[in-house]
Amino acid sequence: MSQDSKLIACRVCGLIMVRLARDVCPKCFQEEELLFQKVKTFLKANPGATLEEVSRHASCDVDHVEALIRSGRLERAGVKRVAHPCQLCQSTIFDGVVCGECKKTLKEQVKMLKDLSKPDK
Ligand SMILES: [Zn+2]
Ligand SMILES: [Zn+2]
Repeated sequence: MSQDSKLIACRVCGLIMVRLARDVCPKCFQEEELLFQKVKTFLKANPGATLEEVSRHASCDVDHVEALIRSGRLERAGVKRVAHPCQLCQSTIFDGVVCGECKKTLKEQVKMLKDLSKPDK
């Protein structure tokens, strides 16, 4: 065995363990797998379900589901994006963190700020 095996804390529960291929302990890995399967099955049957619906069905935190979505695993498994609220206006979106409208507004605001900071000619 190599001598440089490192001790790390499990990403989920903080358990100290020897670093293996993953950064979660076997117990949390199994739970994540279970959650992943549950969420995947649910979303395949209910495309466009909201984060709340998914988390209620999988009886876990919304944060957990969000992390799962952000990891891209669901997408790779052929599941469409989950409906979740735009962080600015709360309208339902399926991709990213803000909706197209808010993205546009943000861009315009940034442009305006840039224009404002330009020296007068
Ligand atoms: Zn753990
Ligand atoms: Zn928005």
